[in-house]
Amino acid sequence: MYDIIIIGAGPAGLTAAIYAQRAGKRCLIIEKGAFGGQISLSPKLENYPGFTAISGTEFSDRLVEQALGLGAEVELDEVTAISQKDGVKTVTTLMGEFKAKAIIIAAGAKHRRLGLEREEELTGMGVSYCAVCDGAFFKGLTVAVVGGGSSALQDAIMLSDGCEKVYLIYRSTLRGEKQLVDTLRKRENVEFIAGGVVTELKGEFELEAITVKTAEGEREIPLQGLFAAVGYEPDNAPFASLIKLDGGGYAEAGENCLTQTEGVYVAGDCRSKAIRQVTTAVADGAVAALAACGYIDSL
Ligand SMILES: Cc1cc2nc3c(=O)[nH]c(=O)nc-3n(C[C@H](O)[C@H](O)[C@H](O)COP(=O)(O)OP(=O)(O)OC[C@H]3O[C@@H](n4cnc5c(N)ncnc54)[C@H](O)[C@@H]3O)c2cc1C
Repeated sequence: MYDIIIIGAGPAGLTAAIYAQRAGKRCLIIEKGAFGGQISLSPKLENYPGFTAISGTEFSDRLVEQALGLGAEVELDEVTAISQKDGVKTVTTLMGEFKAKAIIIAAGAKHRRLGLEREEELTGMGVSYCAVCDGAFFKGLTVAVVGGGSSALQDAIMLSDGCEKVYLIYRSTLRGEKQLVDTLRKRENVEFIAGGVVTELKGEFELEAITVKTAEGEREIPLQGLFAAVGYEPDNAPFASLIKLDGGGYAEAGENCLTQTEGVYVAGDCRSKAIRQVTTAVADGAVAALAACGYIDSL
């Protein structure tokens, strides 16, 4: 029986493990993919306080080393369900079953992909899903933003501050806030491509051009960056028996990270929240871990 099982070894889960281990609790972290989570895909992290710049992999490695150094145990496995009986929580995985007094779900969320060939290969090599994170690398260059919602509009505004040219490519209408549309329309370095669909990513090692299909035909646009802002996809379905999900599939919990089930907490990008960044994920990890420790101590 573990004190706490943490699902997901991203910044939120690893921070939760650091806090819980330091509070004398025995933790198991279960991770199905890369230890370190999404940030390990980022070539450079430049907005985490205390580091002017650090590669995503080095940042992840340091977090993993810190959590393991404090005695956290890890399993490379996928959680498929959680349940509880008489307060004891059971975490079911592809390979077995683990029991704990408390669970912290830190399963993250994925930026929705465009579904293009070579998209994965060029992610971090010109293709990005986070203008806040990567926009600064494209200063003075040409980029495109794909999406018609407020996030895409905000990304395009931010990028147009530093980039030479920004294409905004969207399928039918701009669904985002009118004020953002108005701001963007005044920017001389922004070109709107309505009814556009990106059909191809080109470039040998880095993104060099895209092909866009519109009603008028196909057009090749030479550029260095493509920012996809077509939404997020959390995968909280395996946990739905003990937590409540909002309309977007995110785990409903407030800033205290507590779900509707006592002893079950959510932390990081999988939680319903406004800002999904490393800083907010690690903050959740600390809050959820200390709440879980308090819960266990009260048993
Ligand atoms: C390319 C890129 C660049 C980024 N750059 C920045 C940046 O510069 N600054 C910044 O602040 N943020 C950046 N971000 C966002 C940042 O990475 C996330 O906000 C942060 O990683 C969220 O942490 P998390 O722990 O909540 O989730 P994640 O990092 O997503 O970790 C969740 C983990 O849970 C695992 N998992 C999910 N489901 C299961 C399951 N059923 N069983 C077991 N394991 C499971 C996943 O495999 C994953 O490893 C970037 C993201 C990307 C993709």
